[in-house]
Amino acid sequence: MCTQKDDDPSGIGSTETIRIFNDMIETTPQVKNEQIFEAMSDMDHEQLVFCHDESTGLRAIIAIHNTTLGPAMGGTRMWNYASEAEAIKDVLRLSRGMTLKNAIAGLNIGGGKAVIIGDARKQKNEAMMRRFGRFVDTLGGRYWTAEDVNMSTRDMEYIRMETAYVTGIPESMGGSGDPSPVTAYGVYMGMKASAKKVYGTDNLKDKKVMVQGAGNVGTYLIGYLNKEGAKVMVSDIFEDKLDRVIKSHTVTVVDPAEVYDADMDIYAPCALGATLNDETIPQLKCAIVAGGANNQLDNEGKHGNQLKEQGIVYAPDFLINSGGITNVYYEQQGNYNRERVMTQTELIYDVCLEVINHSEKNNITTHEAAMQLALKRIEMIGKVKLPY
Ligand code: NAD
Repeated sequence: MCTQKDDDPSGIGSTETIRIFNDMIETTPQVKNEQIFEAMSDMDHEQLVFCHDESTGLRAIIAIHNTTLGPAMGGTRMWNYASEAEAIKDVLRLSRGMTLKNAIAGLNIGGGKAVIIGDARKQKNEAMMRRFGRFVDTLGGRYWTAEDVNMSTRDMEYIRMETAYVTGIPESMGGSGDPSPVTAYGVYMGMKASAKKVYGTDNLKDKKVMVQGAGNVGTYLIGYLNKEGAKVMVSDIFEDKLDRVIKSHTVTVVDPAEVYDADMDIYAPCALGATLNDETIPQLKCAIVAGGANNQLDNEGKHGNQLKEQGIVYAPDFLINSGGITNVYYEQQGNYNRERVMTQTELIYDVCLEVINHSEKNNITTHEAAMQLALKRIEMIGKVKLPY
């Protein structure tokens, strides 16, 4: 449970708006069908849209969490969920996360997300993507989509054939292309800000950094770290991913099973979520956690506190991986400019320092401090405009 102080001297966080986020996300029970409104009410979602098409096999759910700052925006994930309840839980959590991310990144968009239930390798095709695009179109711009797990720029092209409310389309089509380099730059900024706090300097030369996941974000991050002279370790479950990184970067490969207790100063989760949990946190000997993966804390309250108690500075994921959404936001605005995007992403450094200082001052976790900052912005802007 997050503690909210009304006499907070920083002015970050207070009042009723924050009530809706006060319960940190736990490793929650499944959402049963008869409890959907209850789940929406718990996290204060605006709208949940179920999309079905027999001929293409499409089964999708679009969640619009909060449109105070503008139309909801967040990617579409295709995943072979074990149950519908699991898919609902995921889309509710992910869309709430987008509200926080978009707010703290200073963007004028709300939080939304979509999930498509199914095996992307077997079921995804042009017809299904276009049918999904038509459903997105019916929302008239209340929800804008983009790529997420198992979706590509090619899929965005198909969706674009049916709706204008899509971003992350290829540069050749006038879009902003792959957002990963920008995401990695933001993660690098968050890591440097954390280092400034811990070591008194943001220079990462000779710092031992463990990058978990040699995918898009991880690889671009390694590029920045190599340039600065950090000692980079990398881990991945696929040999081909590691081979690609080894060829073009200076790295030491670590077995996936040996990541958590490795001798490292900084742990950068850039693979999947929930890697900060009961099992892994006690093994960590690092001073900083700063990475690109979404939902790194298995249980936001408990594991955020556990890191704090171990004296580990945690750079909140939804803050430091917000470069990607910043990138597609400018595409959505129709005046895409890479330089502007990078300048805005660079601000993650200052915001991350502000978050760490606020957490220290108020004896709360950095995750909670970042949430308060995001909610303060929603609350302030909410006073001057109605939801989208
Ligand atoms: P990606 O699929 O390109 O890379 C993920 C990598 O992690 C893959 O190489 C995969 O093999 C590896 N991996 C999976 N499980 C692993 C494990 N147990 N140990 C080590 N490696 C493992 O994805 P990405 O685009 O680089 O995104 C990485 C993370 O960042 C994801 O959680 C994603 O949601 C998040 N994120 C990405 C962006 C973006 O712009 N791409 C933006 C915000 C957040």
